[in-house]
Amino acid sequence: MTSPPQNVTVKCPKCDHTYEDWYRGSVNLDLDNFDDEYLDRCSSAVCPYCGHKVYFNTLISKDGVFYLS
Ligand SMILES: [Zn+2]
Repeated sequence: MTSPPQNVTVKCPKCDHTYEDWYRGSVNLDLDNFDDEYLDRCSSAVCPYCGHKVYFNTLISKDGVFYLS
């Protein structure tokens, strides 16, 4: 199954600002045909202050195989 988006507060490791973003804890590509750009949005956040990008450990399932992005 694909998790609903969860709001999270991210503390930027680069500039120490905090900001709000969202991610999906897991994505099942067998059920949801997301493109790569959306998948990237599901699993990452970009700091609005300095542009530093962080990745969450989103679990992605494709063809029954789970892997971390
Ligand atoms: Zn930052």
